[in-house]
Order: sequence, then C-alpha cells, then structure tokens
Amino acid sequence: MRSIYPALATRLSGLLTHLGVGPYAFDDTVGLVSPLLRVHRLQARVVERVAETASACTLVLQAGSAFPGVLPGQHMAVTVEIDGVRHRRSYSPRPVDGRRDRLAITVQRQPGGRVSGWLTERTRVGDVLELGLPGGDFVLPDPAPPALLMVAGGSGITPGYAMLQWLREHAPRTQVTLIYFARSRGDRIFAGELERLSDAWRALRYAPIDSLANVGPADRGGRVLDRALLDTCEPRWMSLPAWCCGPAPLMDTARRIWAEAGAADRLHTESFGARPAVGDAARRHHVSLLQPHGLADRFEATQATSLLEAAEAAGHAPKHGCRQGICHECTCRLESGSVVDLTTGQRLDGEGQSIRLCVSAAMSDVTLAAAP
Ligand SMILES: Cc1cc2nc3c(=O)[nH]c(=O)nc-3n(C[C@H](O)[C@H](O)[C@H](O)COP(=O)(O)OP(=O)(O)OC[C@H]3O[C@@H](n4cnc5c(N)ncnc54)[C@H](O)[C@@H]3O)c2cc1C
Repeated sequence: MRSIYPALATRLSGLLTHLGVGPYAFDDTVGLVSPLLRVHRLQARVVERVAETASACTLVLQAGSAFPGVLPGQHMAVTVEIDGVRHRRSYSPRPVDGRRDRLAITVQRQPGGRVSGWLTERTRVGDVLELGLPGGDFVLPDPAPPALLMVAGGSGITPGYAMLQWLREHAPRTQVTLIYFARSRGDRIFAGELERLSDAWRALRYAPIDSLANVGPADRGGRVLDRALLDTCEPRWMSLPAWCCGPAPLMDTARRIWAEAGAADRLHTESFGARPAVGDAARRHHVSLLQPHGLADRFEATQATSLLEAAEAAGHAPKHGCRQGICHECTCRLESGSVVDLTTGQRLDGEGQSIRLCVSAAMSDVTLAAAP
C-alpha cells in the first residue's frame, strides 16, 4: 500500500512555498532526519552492490516513499557530486522484489567516464544518490505483444533485462528473441542470469553474440548486426515489434536495416550515448550565446566538438543537465547559422528552432539565445 506521507509532505511543502519559503525548505528540513524523506529532490540509499563483470556493477537502491516506481525500459537521471561538482547521467532502472521504492541500476564503467567511474568504483553501500523521475517511451505496450525481438549492445542490455524480467512474470507466453552483443562472455552483463532464464523459459530464444566492439567491425573478428544474423536468429524479424538499445553505432545500423526493410515503424531504439561530433576539427566557427540577462557568451567551436564542450572549454558554464540530449536543460533557440544534431545527423538552420547544446555541433557561425 502506498504511504500517505508523500501526499501530506507535498501539501505541507506547498503551504510553506505559499508562505514565501523556498520550495526546497521542506526537503532541507526533513532531509536532516533522513534524505529519503525528501519529496522534491528524490534520494535513494545504496543498499547492495553486486559486481556483474570486471567493469560493471549493480547498485540496489532504497528510495523514499515519494518515489513513484519504474516501468521496465524507462530511464531516470542519477546525480552525484564529485569534488563539489554535481554531475547528472541517465540510467535504466529495474524494480526489485516488485516494490515501488526499491530499484536497481547496472552501470558499465566507460574509459575516462566521470559518473560511471564514480558509481562503479567509489560508491559504497550506505551512500545516497539523487534520482530524477523515471520517464521515456522505450517501454513495452500493454498488453504485451505475442512475440517480439530485442537487440542489445553492451550496457544497452539494462532496459531489455528489466523488460525480460517483467515479461517472464506477467506475460510468460510472449515469444522473445534476444540478440545481445558484447565483446565476450566475460564482458556480457547478466550472462549467467540470461543463460539460466533461457534454460527455464521456453518462450525465450537467447542469442549471445561475441563482437570485439559491440557492433564489429567484422574485419576485426567481431560479428555485426546485419540481415543475415537477424534472419538466422528470428526469421520473422521484419514483422515483429523490436526494441534495440546500446551505443550509437548499433542504433545507426539497426535504423538503417529496418528502414531498408520498410519496417522502420516497428523498431524502437534507445541510444546510450550521442554519436560523437566527427566534423572538421580545423574549421572554427564563432558562437554567440545570448543570455537572458542581456550579455552574451562568445566562444569558438569546431565541427568536431559539441557546443556545450566548446563553451566549457572557453571558460563559460552554460546551463545543462545530462549531457546526453535527454533532459533538454541546455535547450537554446537558434537565432542564425547552422548546427548539426549529433543524435540524428540532421542539419538545422532555420531561425527559431530549438537545439540542445550538448548534442549539437556548429556548422557555421552561430547565434543562439539561452532559455530564461
Ligand atoms: C536513456 C539512457 C539510459 C542509460 N542507461 C544506462 C544504464 O542503464 N547503464 C549504463 O551503464 N549506462 C547507461 N547510460 C549511459 C550513461 O548515461 C552514461 O553516458 C555513461 O555511464 C557514461 O557516463 P560518464 O559520466 O561515465 O562518461 P563521460 O564522462 O560523460 O564520458 C567519458 C567518455 O566515455 C564516452 N562514453 C560515454 N558514454 C558512453 C557509452 N554509453 N558508450 C560508450 N562510450 C561512452 C564518452 O564519449 C567519453 O569519451 C544510459 C544513457 C542514456 C541516454
């Protein structure tokens, strides 16, 4: 049963705000008793740590009663403070023990990665993390379809694993084919669990694929996602709904294959990282970022870096959140010039368009207006 605490706390906090006290005053006060009592900035305590591979671990989190619960496949922001600086990234949680307030995230350490390194190496049982509200449309329909396909690469298994656990419990007759790319069995997150699940659940067809770099390339010995592999693993793939999650190159390949097959509308994708800016590093463009208070941040950007990174490299600190194009906190208005959207490869050059600094690179001199 859901506790009445969140509703009471939200009303009390609203009353305090009405009386002119800041919206976080309530949270700050109850946070002195327990951070899990906060209702605006949701927090969760790490209650268990499980090593999954040499570079990935699962953190089981106990959230407060204000946490709304997660649907399998959703993502949420996790904020950590590292050396006094707050960093926010998205992770794909799964419910634990069927409880609304208990969840697990599985984090793959990325080389040089700030937050993944912190969560996999420095975070301990008892630590408290700040959570955003779960969201996103990479979720299963209700009711679940009779058959579906999942394609995952590396840590992109996390939303798929949450969906598999849900299907096993609530729709065990759904026929599921899972194609999962990882460098080797040792790098494959949930390798043992997935093998046990496919042994015990006849409706699951599990195809683990060893690839040197998640999606190949084939000439380095890795197997790639292609039509031949799909035909072998699930001959009906073109007619089934498919969920594909992993690094940007795997998503690009999947989108191309499904589009060429005329089945793009059946493919759901979620990318775990924006495509890096790969434009000409020698072409420098002037960027003016007009701030609401009237002044402008002026800096140079090449086509080989995001506008956010270029601004930061020049000593500016534009408003931003997840750095992945998810939270939209760095959204600005394009006043003049052209940018490329690194998530889609699309060039944008119309005045008045919304662009996200973290996933856009300049293609010409650009003027932008920051949101108030
Ligand atoms: C919707 C969504 C859900 C996600 N769910 C999960 C999840 O459940 N588990 C999980 O481990 N990660 C997940 N991620 C990725 C996660 O948000 C971070 O991007 C990742 O942990 C790296 O953050 P960082 O701070 O360590 O790296 P940063 O310090 O931001 O980057 C360091 C370096 O790592 C590279 N890099 C960053 N992310 C990736 C990546 N995903 N693949 C390859 N290289 C990368 C960067 O290009 C950079 O060179 C998800 C991302 C999104 C958008």
